[in-house]
Amino acid sequence: AKAGGRNNFCFFSRHMTQQANERLLLESQLRAALANGELRLALQPKYSVAARHLTGFEALLRWTDATGRVIPPTRFIPVAEDSGLIVDIGLWVLREACHVAAGWPAAGKPALTIAVNASPRQLAQPGFADEVARALASSGLPAAQLEIEVTENALLEKTGVVQQTLALLKKLGVRLAVDDFGTGYSSLAYLKNFAPDTVKIDRCFVTNLQHRQDNAAIVLAIITLAKSLGMEALAEGVETEEEFAALAALGCDTVQGYLTGKPLPLDEAAALVAAVSHP
Ligand code: C2E
Ligand code: CA
Ligand code: CA
Ligand code: CA
Repeated sequence: AKAGGRNNFCFFSRHMTQQANERLLLESQLRAALANGELRLALQPKYSVAARHLTGFEALLRWTDATGRVIPPTRFIPVAEDSGLIVDIGLWVLREACHVAAGWPAAGKPALTIAVNASPRQLAQPGFADEVARALASSGLPAAQLEIEVTENALLEKTGVVQQTLALLKKLGVRLAVDDFGTGYSSLAYLKNFAPDTVKIDRCFVTNLQHRQDNAAIVLAIITLAKSLGMEALAEGVETEEEFAALAALGCDTVQGYLTGKPLPLDEAAALVAAVSHP
């Protein structure tokens, strides 16, 4: 048994070394991808439940490497976060998103929003709010049209920097959203202090909502909470008309998901914006 244990140790150790090497390789490829312009944004539309009109988009990273291979964000974002590369990548996303949204016709009322994901690493940078202010100024995008999505767990950061950054962003007039709500270490006290404009209900509560009494109860509780605090309730990952109808019955404000629109390349998103701006 002892020998077997040792062999197992060797196996796991070799396996772990291989995994570490793969991460290092991915990290250096990602660094090159950022420098070489291999990163793109995809924009997923968001719609009001009441009128089903377009309210804005969420910017999501896409990476196709030089050989045409698509690497999903669920694979490279954790590597970017661990290595700190997310700070530079996130800055690129922010600037690109502001630039794109600033180009949309201003005629649409109310103006369309663009949401950008910010990782805890970015929020812990003392200069983050300044970078946001700079991205707004150089693009000309009004602050109220930019929404920063923060996961619940980022709010747990005890460091004063994160709290200060969030306060500074508020002062700029940027919208704040709490992402993946209900999946992290949420606390109602954090929600109250953070006071986001939008609560994004995680997809895990939305899937098959119409058949799941437990999920329906949770979603209703989140929507009720959001509304009583004056926040917008958005449901993520809506894939079917049945889910949409159930969300409408529960009073959800906004939806995002494959039912109403997948993440789109920039040109297709622009065409969608043009279509609603000039009906
Ligand atoms: P997220 O912020 O929760 O984004 C929503 C994810 O759900 C996206 O996956 C989106 O494509 C997917 N999705 C949207 N509608 C549906 C649906 O109806 N059904 C299903 N099954 N999925 C749907 P994606 O693009 O693969 O991104 C995964 C995660 O990677 C994001 O989750 C976010 O945490 C992270 N991410 C993506 N872009 C960025 C970024 O620019 N910065 C940071 N920090 N994280 C990012
Ligand atoms: Ca998000
Ligand atoms: Ca989410
Ligand atoms: Ca998520």
